[in-house]
This record gives sequence, structure tokens and C-alpha cells, in this order.
Amino acid sequence: MLGAGLHDLDRAVTDLAHELPDPLRPLAAVAYDYRWSWVPGGADVFAGIDAHRFGRDGNPVRLLRSSPRPVLERAAADRQLVERAAWLAEVLAADRARPWDTAVDPRRPVAFVCAEFGVHRSLPVYSGGLGVLAGDILKAASDRALPMVAVGLLYRRGYFHQRIDTGGRQHEYWIDLDPRDLPAALVTGADGRPIVVRVPAWDGELAAQVWRVAVGRVPLFLLDADLPENSELERWVTSRLYEGNRSVRLAQYSLLGIGGVLALDALGIDPAVVHLNEGHAALAALELASRSDRDDARDEPLARVRERFVFTTHTPVAAGNETYGADELLATLGGVPARVGLDPDRFLDLCRITPGTDEPVGMTPLAIRASRSVNGVSARHGDVARSMWQPMFPDRDASSVPITSVTNGVHVPTWMAPRMRALLDEHLGAGWETRAADPDTWSAIDAIPDSDLWAVRCELRAELVEHCRSRAVTDRLARGEQLEYVRAAWTTFDPGVLTVGFARRIATYKRLHLLSVDPQRALALLDGDRPLQFLFAGKAHPMDESAKQVTQQLFGLKDAPGVAGRVAFLEDYDLSYAARLVAGCDVWLNVPRPPMEASGTSGMKAALNGALNVSVLDGWWAEAHDGTNGWAIDGEPDDDWAAQDHRHATALYDVIEHDVVPMFHDRDAAGIPRAWVARMKASLRTIGWRFSADRMVADYVRDVYRHP
Ligand SMILES: *Cc1c(COP(=O)(O)O)cnc(C)c1O
Repeated sequence: MLGAGLHDLDRAVTDLAHELPDPLRPLAAVAYDYRWSWVPGGADVFAGIDAHRFGRDGNPVRLLRSSPRPVLERAAADRQLVERAAWLAEVLAADRARPWDTAVDPRRPVAFVCAEFGVHRSLPVYSGGLGVLAGDILKAASDRALPMVAVGLLYRRGYFHQRIDTGGRQHEYWIDLDPRDLPAALVTGADGRPIVVRVPAWDGELAAQVWRVAVGRVPLFLLDADLPENSELERWVTSRLYEGNRSVRLAQYSLLGIGGVLALDALGIDPAVVHLNEGHAALAALELASRSDRDDARDEPLARVRERFVFTTHTPVAAGNETYGADELLATLGGVPARVGLDPDRFLDLCRITPGTDEPVGMTPLAIRASRSVNGVSARHGDVARSMWQPMFPDRDASSVPITSVTNGVHVPTWMAPRMRALLDEHLGAGWETRAADPDTWSAIDAIPDSDLWAVRCELRAELVEHCRSRAVTDRLARGEQLEYVRAAWTTFDPGVLTVGFARRIATYKRLHLLSVDPQRALALLDGDRPLQFLFAGKAHPMDESAKQVTQQLFGLKDAPGVAGRVAFLEDYDLSYAARLVAGCDVWLNVPRPPMEASGTSGMKAALNGALNVSVLDGWWAEAHDGTNGWAIDGEPDDDWAAQDHRHATALYDVIEHDVVPMFHDRDAAGIPRAWVARMKASLRTIGWRFSADRMVADYVRDVYRHP
């Protein structure tokens, strides 16, 4: 079943292999399976061919296809490189040969549907946390050999790239992607022609073809509307992720939901469970329901498919659950009710919190109604979601609303830096990563000599600082800064200085502005004999004016003394930037306005590399913080936002001045900060297993996918 479209990938592999010198041929199959990206040393094999070319976008297919012949010949003559290539190909083949996890029948896999997937930077169909989490779930499912397929959209222009000007204003630009350059194959049917699905949009039908990408054992199918038979408007539907035009966004939901089901059909895949990761794909339920011949159709269209749908909500803020006017929805999706056999009013009611009203409509109420299991992404978010959606369950009080939680986790092999992993390999025992969800595995952390752990921390920090120096120089030059300001990045960033990171989507609730609430106090931290350096990164949604202003506000401080050499805003945050930052920072900050952080995951990634979290007690940190493994700022909601900001900013500066800085500098004769290292160990030991994607997927299998 999971073999649908596999011959197309095989053909792409064979074609690529023909273009390579004999000794490099095993790399063709490797290049078409993202599994290489989480085998330790996997990326080094491709970098060994041409580090510079590979470094540009990390796409091994493009590297192998576009490298000049002499470069490939030189690599083919490198005995060591050829041996490592053969080894890597064997690792991937052995991985594919493992038997399936029997928790799910491979003939009836789990279909995981999401609007974005953050698998690797060379596949830019993600924007932030939701997509990266989805990518981590696919990787962890592959590691477990869990029968899963994934469905998403292939955005030709992906998410935007970011430039900041000297005034701190964000500018966006998009780069066209040619899917033929990707490790992806166009899926063809039995007649040898590309499979095409058609879904209702506006006054007609929108057509899409399907690409297959291998994320280890998990096939990711991406729908692509860039077809000659579509109008320009229709083609635009898979142009940009989180398109600003609301009507185009609705058409995306039709394609993802209805088109996703049709694509699985055409591929011969009949999922036992459809996992809606966020509500964007909720129309899938109506499409499946319309095919059932059960005769309760008219009264309860969703009753027939409820046992097959599960839904994860990620959004504790109203704005994240988009709503539309009834007419607005029908202007784009007016063809949907007829297609699924419902009258338009019934259709609209299924998309409302309270049917029979003239409330606005949205995909989240539909997803909740369609699913036998609904969950939030941390224990606290479960509470928040129960209250938020209680109006859909008028005969229940909030505590008995049927919404549970599965706390997010991150994919350890993706997010732990190679240097840290090598250290844990020495101490946690062979194959420890297959036991990563077991707390016992991590108890061996305590036996690591302090000096070894500290040495790794210092190396990781130095690597990041080195990288940031050169990146900050080019960012500043491109912005048009004065040369003196440009030079400060090179001369003052210091591999020995306590490095604090803040990188994530810039949304107002993440409160980046907290750092500049008391500028004098913030600036004082950069100075003196125990200074800090700050690294910031993140994108604001192009339409989010208030978030953009926060970046400008922060840039307002850039000419203050000390800032040029101690603070850098790194442009165009993406997966590879995230990996560098979480690996190199000593302290990871998160200061969302409670209770608006559903989970947060970047702090988990940082913890895997020995960083310590300083965070508001919201989302995941509310269940992770135990007093020994980082620092906390209170997480009580408060209607007076200004007062709360002031209180939290004060608490943040206090904790940095009174706890973080002194502990970091309290060194013994060997130069090791013993108390700090003890905290790093507590953080690794308590967070490593519990917030791993492996644990998360095990929870989904046990509590959500399996039928009760
Ligand atoms: C992990 C990650 C995020 C999510 O960060 P949060 O702390 O959960 O907001 C966003 N973007 C990228 C690129 C990431 O890797």
C-alpha cells in the first residue's frame, strides 16, 4: 500500500545514478530519501563532494545533478568518501528493510495531513513551529517503522524570505522553486500519466498533480496546482504558504482536505485513521463522509467517518482559528456542499461553534465535530482548549469537554548537534537513541564528567559565534550599515561570552518587546566585566503589522553603546538557522503572554544541546520546569497587559542578573562552572526523554490512533 508512487521515485533514482561516476551511484538513492539528514555523518558525505555548493541549499539532488564532471570525478576517486557513501546507502537500505511496527496495520496506515511540513531546509514548505513539528512527527514515525503517510501542499514559492532594513523594517521576497530540482518524484498512474485530482474552487474545479517525497519510511505526498489546465488564479493556490488573500487560502483548504482524500484514493491508500494536524484540512471528513452508504447520512453526515478522524489543535489564540463570513466562504467553496451532498446551510452549520446561528464559519469547529479524538499540545493547552471550545459542548462544563492533550516533542537525531551526540554516544550506551523515550536512558547523564560536558558546551558556543560573526557582517553590509557598525560584529562577538538566544516566529504574543521595556537595564547587561551577548532571529507574518513594529522597536536601540558588538538580529530564520542557534546558545529565552503558548518547541531543542531555558510558565515549560533544570517566570494570566509586561520584564532582568550571570561565572580552579553544569545535566536528564518526538509519537499511537 505504501508503495504507491514508489516506481516514480525509483525511476528518478535510476536517472540520477546514470549521471554519476560508478563509485558514487549508491548516493542517488540516498539523495532521494531525507533519511540521510538524520543519520550522524550523513550530511558530511554530500558536503565531502563540494561543501560550498551543498551548503547553499543543502539539496543533495541538486548537488549531484549540477556539479561539474571534474568535481564528481574527484569525489569518485576519494576512497574514503566512496566508502562512506556506500556505508550511508547501506544504513538507509537496512532501515527500509525493518519490519513494520505492528501497532498499525500497514495496509491501513495513518494519514497525517497538514498545511506545512518542516522536514529540511531544502524543501521550503514550512513557516514555523507547526510545520517543524509535523516534520519531526514524520521522522519519528519513520524511526518507529510506523505505517504512516503524509499529505500536504507543494508551495512553489514556499514561505517568504526576510530582509531587514537599517530602520528595522521587514521586507519580504519569494523565490520560485522548481520541483524537478527537489528530491521528489511526480506520481504517475497505471497508464504512465501523472495522477491528477480535481476539487471545487470558485466557480469550477481546480486540478492538482501529486509529488512523492521520502521522509525515511514515511511517504510525503504534496499536491501541486501549477498545471496548464488551471487558470493563473487557480495555479496561485499552491504558490505561497499562508497566502494573505483569504479566498486563495480557502481554496487551499479545499485542495488539502478534499484533494488530499482524492490523492490517497488515486494512490490506492485507504487510511484507517486520518490525523488532521490543525484544522486546515477538515473538509477531508466531508469528502469521505459523502461516499458512505450508511443511511444516517442525512441527519448526521459526520457520524459515518468520526471513527476515522483525529484532530490536533495548536492554537490557543482566536486569531489562529480563522473565521469567515458565510458568503465569503461560499464565494470560494460554494461547490463543496453539492459535491459532498449537503445543502449549503447544513454545511455552514457544521463549520460553526453554534449551529443555527449566523456566526462566522471556520475549519476548526468542523474538525472538532468530525473527529473521535481531539487534543491540544501540552497539558496546559489541553485546559485552555477545553475552555475555549466549551461552547461547542453546551451540556458540559469546561472540565469535561472531550479534548485531551499530547505534549509536543522534538526529533532528537535532528536537533542534537553532532558534538553533543558524540558525547552521549560515549555515556548512554550503543543505540541509546532507540531508547530515547525511556527516562532510564538519560539517567547516565549524571556520570558524564563535568569537564567533558562543559568542553562540548564551549565548542558549540564557539561554532555559533563564529558563524554569527560572518553572517552578521553580511547582513549588516546588505542593510547598508556604517562600516564601523559592520566591523563590530566581527570584532566584538566573543566565543567565551554568555550567549542568550531568542528565535521564533515574531508574533505579538511572543513578546519580543519585553526585552526593550526597560532599555537601561537591558543595555547594562551588555556591559561590564560579566557581559552577555544576544542573538535574535524570526520572521513576522507579512500581514502582521504590529509584529513588524516590534522588530523596528528593537532596532531602535541599535545605536546605543555596546549594542553593535553584543546584539545581532540574524535575518531569514529557517530550519538550518534554528539548528545552529539551539546548538550554540547557553540560555534560551521564551516570554509568551500566558496562556497563549500552546506548547513551544524551540526550548526543547535548545535543552538537547545543554542550553538552559529561562521561560514563562506556559505551554511545555509549565510541565517541564522542576526548579532544578532552568528558570521560570510566572505564568498567571492577567487582563492588565501593560502591568503584566512590566512585571515579567522585571522578573526576567532579575533572574538574569541575580541567578543566570553569577552562576555562569562561578568557576572552580579548573575554570568550570560546577553549579551551571549541574543544571545542564538536570535539564538534559529531565527534558531529553520526555520532550522527544519518539515519546510524542508513542503517545499518539497509544492514546489517539489505536481504537479505544
Ligand atoms: C522549532 C522551530 C520553531 C518553533 O519555535 P517555538 O519556540 O515553538 O516558537 C519555529 N521555527 C523554526 C525554524 C523551528 O525550528
